[in-house]
Amino acid sequence: MTSLSDLPIRDDLRGRTPYGAPQKVVPVALNVNENTHPVPEDVAADIVARVAVAVTGVNRYPDREFTELREAFARYLGHGLTAEQVWAANGSNEVLQHILQAFGGPGRSLLGFAPTYSMYPLLASGTGTGWIAAGRDAEFELSPETAAAAVREHDPDIVILCSPNNPTGTPLSLDTVEAVYAAARGIVIVDEAYAEFMPEGEPSALTLLPGRERLLVSRTMSKAFAFAGARVGYLAADPAVVDALRLVRLPYHLSAITQAAALGALAHSDEMLAMVGEIRAQRDRLVVELAELGYLPHCSGSNFVLFGGVDDPHAVFEALLERGVLIRDVGIPHHLRVTAGTETETTAFLEALRALGRPSG
Ligand code: PMP
Repeated sequence: MTSLSDLPIRDDLRGRTPYGAPQKVVPVALNVNENTHPVPEDVAADIVARVAVAVTGVNRYPDREFTELREAFARYLGHGLTAEQVWAANGSNEVLQHILQAFGGPGRSLLGFAPTYSMYPLLASGTGTGWIAAGRDAEFELSPETAAAAVREHDPDIVILCSPNNPTGTPLSLDTVEAVYAAARGIVIVDEAYAEFMPEGEPSALTLLPGRERLLVSRTMSKAFAFAGARVGYLAADPAVVDALRLVRLPYHLSAITQAAALGALAHSDEMLAMVGEIRAQRDRLVVELAELGYLPHCSGSNFVLFGGVDDPHAVFEALLERGVLIRDVGIPHHLRVTAGTETETTAFLEALRALGRPSG
């Protein structure tokens, strides 16, 4: 049988492992930070109606510039943004890939602050970009000083800041974004995949865009927006950055069906985001109850909680799975990560964990 290593694959891909969050059918799946509340039925009906119209025209290629969708994202984001400043793709992973294709590549580097989103090094390797993992402060915080010092030391072509950070949940202050931008000569991405879960009124890096043409803010419909299966991510930046991304996207990369579905969801953004408050409440409950159980939960501005004090993460992961609860072993020693689900799902997780007995550590 042919194995991967028998193939004339690129040298820099040899020995790599693909992104591989386990996909299992379980009663309680709290492993990939989705919004676990289903799409409301009336919204689903409107999306289906819009997709039905789009389907009658799929003999033709879709709008390559996805103009209506960019206008809808600009309206949704506010902050005086216009469609020329908006880009979108099949998930924010593809948005990030476009950025690396346009601004990274062989001989160039991407710097991030580990532990952080596991796709960053994979996107770097896929585009032949060097990956630099800088460190964080205590409690996974990232101060302006620490971040700017790493940027000055490594002088990367691209810096990526995850705000709030996955897998730790740590919020990021705009002071750190400003300091990184001032220290960097290249592109600075703020990945705000989880922005909607931050406390209400907390400013987004979108407020820093005016006058900063190297600053890019990426977002996704996969998390708060309850639209992970549709694969829609987007970005706000200077119109010149959007022009750069046009150079690397495949023609017609957003299908007519995707565009219609996303427009439908955005037309009902209030309803799609209606459960965010409830999810925040379950996240805060996780922090309180995990501590009561003797674990060490970290502060989170996101829809998940990273908790320490786990003697054997692999064993706990497996024991929970046996009880029908899927969470995530993110590879941080003595830690596991759990997504805040519905109240029922969150209860099921906490009960299953409680049933395993107190951590001995
Ligand atoms: N950024 C972060 C920090 C994420 O956690 C994720 C999904 N896990 C993504 C980007 C990508 O999400 P998507 O491609 O679904 O938009």
